[in-house]
Amino acid sequence: APVAFEWLWKAKCIPRIKVFGWFLLSDRLNTRNMLKRRHYNIGDNLDCLLCGQPVEETVEHLFFHCDFSKACWDT
Ligand SMILES: [Zn+2]
Repeated sequence: APVAFEWLWKAKCIPRIKVFGWFLLSDRLNTRNMLKRRHYNIGDNLDCLLCGQPVEETVEHLFFHCDFSKACWDT
């Protein structure tokens, strides 16, 4: 298994956070990008709803590039 998963499961935090981390590392969070890949009927607009930028809502965007998320991390 990749090192990140070993680190995650050995981390001293509540299981709920570990499961969220597992979803994150496995690219299984329900972003608009993921919902579209699973053929959910969400229309053609995959833009991020948090920042309003015309950028597809992916895990990478939500955690590393989204202006709204950056503002949350900075507080
Ligand atoms: Zn965004």
